[in-house]
Amino acid sequence: MPDVRCKVMIVEDAVENRQLLKALLEDDYEVAETESAEECLEKLGFEKPDLILMDVQLPGIDGYEACRRLKSQNDTRDLPIIFVSGGASTEERLAGYEAGGDEYVTKPFSVQDLLQKVERSLLTKQEEVQLKQTIAEAQAAAQRALISSTELGGLNLYMQQCGVAQSYQELADYLLRAVRAFGLHCSVAMRGPLDTVFFGCEEGSLEADLLAKARPSDGLVQLQARTLLNSQNCAILVKSMPLDEQRSGQLHQYLSVILDATTARMDTLQVLQEAEAQRTSTIKNLIRTSESEKQRIRDKYQDREMAQREILEKLRGQVEEQILRNLAEQCVMSSVDEGIRRINDLPDLSKDIESSFNSTKAILNRLLD
Ligand code: MN
Repeated sequence: MPDVRCKVMIVEDAVENRQLLKALLEDDYEVAETESAEECLEKLGFEKPDLILMDVQLPGIDGYEACRRLKSQNDTRDLPIIFVSGGASTEERLAGYEAGGDEYVTKPFSVQDLLQKVERSLLTKQEEVQLKQTIAEAQAAAQRALISSTELGGLNLYMQQCGVAQSYQELADYLLRAVRAFGLHCSVAMRGPLDTVFFGCEEGSLEADLLAKARPSDGLVQLQARTLLNSQNCAILVKSMPLDEQRSGQLHQYLSVILDATTARMDTLQVLQEAEAQRTSTIKNLIRTSESEKQRIRDKYQDREMAQREILEKLRGQVEEQILRNLAEQCVMSSVDEGIRRINDLPDLSKDIESSFNSTKAILNRLLD
């Protein structure tokens, strides 16, 4: 027997029968008595019996009709009804089952038979209720599993997008879309090395203010309907979490996975940006150095040209003078040789140019690595 006593409603117009049934049942059950089908239907909502013992021959509506009415309504369809009737013929029993009755007991009845039928009907009803509950729970679980497999797909997609996002803006676009797929609206703050950038909310809005005040140490904060999740460089503010505990627990898990992935990607983007900045500054330096090298070599080249011109002009003057003075051919030739030697002694620029190119090439190679 269950902890809470079941209630049996007796519908019987004969006083002695009613008292007998009550006496038999009241040790094990709560008992409610009614004298007619009308009274039974009227008191049903108030008494809420678990089972009805229904006489067939009644003043007014008979037991069969009362049974048909009860079995045709959703809220009383599952209520077990046992007919207790003076008619023992097969036709009468069949009429009882046709009316929707669950059991049929004929008067005079065996006490044991009656009590067994009452107990069995109550157990059957409880089992049915339990079974229906189990089926409903299984359906709800299946429904949840379907939802979450779609949602896990969404989560997986976000993980992939995280791996390729090249900027905070791109990362935030993916994040907002992923969270929307869970039926949630959110806004995001990404704390960069220089400033904090907000996504999914207007600057100066309440959301932006809440996000701006969020600190990495806050972790998870519940602000009435809002939920705030924090990491060292990112904060996600969800505008309204569902009240259902199981669902919101599941969503919290998804959101913390999203937050972790976002945090990791922001760290990576930070490292990539620093490397990129390093590269850019090296290239700028290289351009500057090349420019000054070019200038230096050009100056040297001009110096060399000037020196060369001077030597040739001086040589021309010497030769002219030697010819005018009719000096020996040998003397003229030694002046020319002297000029050639001095030109050869001028600094060799090709080595300078080569070493300048080599150092540029070394820097470019380092950038490739
Ligand atoms: Mn009767």
